[in-house]
Amino acid sequence: MTKRNYATVNPCVMCQPMGSALAFKGVENTMVLYHGSQGCSTYMRLHLAHHFREPVDIASSSLSEKGAVYGGRENLKKGLRNVINRYNPKVIGVATTCLAETIGDDVPSIIREFKEEAGIGDDLEKDIIIIPVSTPSYGESHVSGYIKALDAIVRKLTEKPENPEESKISEDAGNGKLNLIPVESVSPADVRELKEILAETAGDYIFLPDISETFDAPLGEELPKIAPGGTTLAEIADMPNSKASLGLGVVSTNLAVKYLETSHGVPGHNVPIPIGLLNNDLFFTELVRILGCPIPEKYQKERGRLLDAMVDVHKYLYGVKAAVYGDPDTVFSLTTFMLELGMNPVLVATGSKSRDFEKRIKQIFEEIRPELEPVVLNGIDFDTLNDAVGECSPEILIGNSNGRHIAKARNIPLVRVGLPIHDRVGAQRILTVGYRGALELLDRITNTILEATDTFTAPVQVEPAAYAGQEAGDDCIEGAQ
Ligand code: SF4
Repeated sequence: MTKRNYATVNPCVMCQPMGSALAFKGVENTMVLYHGSQGCSTYMRLHLAHHFREPVDIASSSLSEKGAVYGGRENLKKGLRNVINRYNPKVIGVATTCLAETIGDDVPSIIREFKEEAGIGDDLEKDIIIIPVSTPSYGESHVSGYIKALDAIVRKLTEKPENPEESKISEDAGNGKLNLIPVESVSPADVRELKEILAETAGDYIFLPDISETFDAPLGEELPKIAPGGTTLAEIADMPNSKASLGLGVVSTNLAVKYLETSHGVPGHNVPIPIGLLNNDLFFTELVRILGCPIPEKYQKERGRLLDAMVDVHKYLYGVKAAVYGDPDTVFSLTTFMLELGMNPVLVATGSKSRDFEKRIKQIFEEIRPELEPVVLNGIDFDTLNDAVGECSPEILIGNSNGRHIAKARNIPLVRVGLPIHDRVGAQRILTVGYRGALELLDRITNTILEATDTFTAPVQVEPAAYAGQEAGDDCIEGAQ
């Protein structure tokens, strides 16, 4: 699409270690340490703090020129000691950044050495659990960092000890729970909604990672060093006993769901992130199929309200050309919803390099609106997106706030969805999942379009004189013009 092929300009993704922090921060009493240069930690802390409007502590092993030449072994050990002394966490997630990966530090071996020196074992109750994850940003994006970190967390906390008698996993006793694991970070409000749905259907469940409190904490008298909340270690260790795992997302591979199935025999299922009517129907149908539970009347009513609203706004949304961009699975679900609403997603794009993105997007067009021919872009930067927007001429943009420059320059309204949202408040409270989330998103999209088109409707509207500030007797139509 772009005529230029020089280096990436304004990436449409964030760094891979940042995705790992999004996952680690959803586990109770966990601290994150980036092994690499200090700037990585500073940038990602600020990025997350601006999005969630919460303090976000991320430690760094602060590699300098010396570390880059001689290796970061000592820096990492010192960093681990400082994190333990200052934060007293139960878990430390160690994510590598580009520098540590480029110099080739063997992080798992450094951690083994550190644990031996510090006398730290692998007991979930007594010891500090250190989980390494390899996340160089030149390889992939925050999306893969999130998926890899969740996989590493589940592997570490459910690993079978060499002596089976020491195992905390009771092979024969199922816990009757459902594991729910999203493939991309959803908002704290989304997590709360999903937990409510699970409580009213599954009853007992394990949600990983639970950022509903850690990234959206109530104001208290004291600021804890590590935000309370998150999935407990005991819950994660219990995941192999669950009756099934349900992954949210169908474009990227959910490694944690796959691992629980292949290594622990927990049946894994994946449905799209439940945004919109069809994706929520699939989500609830899968819950019913796995759990054999009825759909509570509350959700049937919410579905009815969503349908009613879709009928109400059809006249405003039908045929509206949209550009949708962001993380692959979020974009997939948003696109499905746009198609259900009768909109025309002329441009569908992700900044992540995703193998199945194009195939999945084309499939959903084929199923719902085969007559449309979207431009589908994968692994793009905002420079390319800008060119594509110029060629496709959408009437509305739907995506994260990093697209605001395109929106402003081209005078196209932007509905902010996904991560990051830096130029508005309330990102942590944006609800998009569930029938309620779809309804809220529907209203936001429709009202944005109505507001944008108001300039065209204003000349033919007759406004009451009192509103328009006109003298009695003035010609209202003339005044409105
Ligand atoms: S691209 Fe690499 S070096 Fe730069 S901030 Fe991201 S992780 Fe750090």
